[in-house]
Amino acid sequence: MGRQPGRSVPEEQGSRSGPVRTCVGCGSKRPQAELTRFVIGAGGAIEVDRARRLPGRGAYLCGAGCLTAALKRKAFGRAFRGKAGQVDPSQLGQAWASVKES
Ligand SMILES: [Zn+2]
Repeated sequence: MGRQPGRSVPEEQGSRSGPVRTCVGCGSKRPQAELTRFVIGAGGAIEVDRARRLPGRGAYLCGAGCLTAALKRKAFGRAFRGKAGQVDPSQLGQAWASVKES
């Protein structure tokens, strides 16, 4: 009694700025549009999802330092629930750099 349906949705509904996601590196919450999305591509490798439209579970990062932090914390393994193959830091670094350059 008195519970309002659908009122406690912390992450899926950011008000005006769209959905909010948590950076797996530093743990801060930001609008999805400010984050870089990573997904598991074919073969289990982690890839950058530039358009943020690929299906499946994603992991988000907000800054270059967060990539390092996420690797240290093995945050990708957790974010993808063990579905990621071996995480290749250099490949991820390159993917990240290619995003930042464009
Ligand atoms: Zn971050």
